[in-house]
Amino acid sequence: MDDVEVLLKELTEASGISGHETEVRRLVQNHLGPLGEISHDKLGSVICRKCGEKSEPKIMIAAHMDEIGFVVSHVTKEGFLRFAALGGWWDQVLLAQRVTIKTTQGDVVGTIGAKPPHLLSDEERRKLVEKNDMYIDIGATSREEVEKAGVGVADPILPTSGFTILANGRTYLAKAFDDRAGCALAITTMKRMVSISHPNTLFAVATVQEEVGLRGATTSVKVVDPDVAIVLEGTAANDMPGAGNEGHQVLKLGAGPVVTFYRQDMIPNHQLRSLLIDIAKREGIPVQIRADGRVRGGTDGAAIHLHGSGVPTVVLSLPVRYVHSHGAIMHRDDFDAAVELLIGAIRELDQKAVTGMTAW
Ligand SMILES: [Zn+2]
Repeated sequence: MDDVEVLLKELTEASGISGHETEVRRLVQNHLGPLGEISHDKLGSVICRKCGEKSEPKIMIAAHMDEIGFVVSHVTKEGFLRFAALGGWWDQVLLAQRVTIKTTQGDVVGTIGAKPPHLLSDEERRKLVEKNDMYIDIGATSREEVEKAGVGVADPILPTSGFTILANGRTYLAKAFDDRAGCALAITTMKRMVSISHPNTLFAVATVQEEVGLRGATTSVKVVDPDVAIVLEGTAANDMPGAGNEGHQVLKLGAGPVVTFYRQDMIPNHQLRSLLIDIAKREGIPVQIRADGRVRGGTDGAAIHLHGSGVPTVVLSLPVRYVHSHGAIMHRDDFDAAVELLIGAIRELDQKAVTGMTAW
């Protein structure tokens, strides 16, 4: 594995559901620590400041550290765990999946119990099981055994899924590419910027609690008070069977990072998005443009662009198949292209360029 693969493995396998980001935060801090001055907001987001040739403008690149997961909501007397979802899960991807409960005594492995076909009626076979009816089985036979294992109410529960390099060597399978791929992008870019001059001050920010309402973005942007922001995300690719693409735009794995021109929660600054597209054209970096109103969900950009009197903001994403599941897939070519595009943008974002973005 090369540096980027090691980084992606480390970050995607780390624990960090919303509000429980300690493990992934330590990793991010270890990587960013030597590259700039580290500070935090009071919710736990990490901010790394790196001065360039000028103190202004202030450029914020942001990725969220948290991933979707669950917490233990109840232990039945038979020793099964009920759970509450943190973030947007589709019930259908949950049954029979492996999970890890992070207890004060250490990790406890479990599975989301699925009734075997032998016990299913014809009607049950056709029906979608809802997550409120699901439970986690840690192999216990009583509530006492669960307590003895250290599992308690409100303990965080993490999807379990190892990082794997797939057959073509350029695509990767893992959980939490949304948005550990964004974190890896921020870290890789910051490492490259050590030897590249830039006419601004750069803030790499790893936010918390995005999946439950953009909360770390809302607080960290107040600490940074940026003049311009680029939000790094993993976005839903739709280049697979049954995605309902007839007559619609297809975001394809390996066809380049995605510059969002329209989202339900944010309209990006036009000059900023044009800057990215122009750099991509000039340097031969492939990009895809998204303006698909069907796509749901928000990004940290929604909170960041409304900070103060407004911040010119754009979302740069990696297309990811099967986001918000145990088995998401991303393409290395998209990652590498995004790093080049990001570096190109950081080098061009001087005071003149940024002032021009809000000269109405
Ligand atoms: Zn995300």
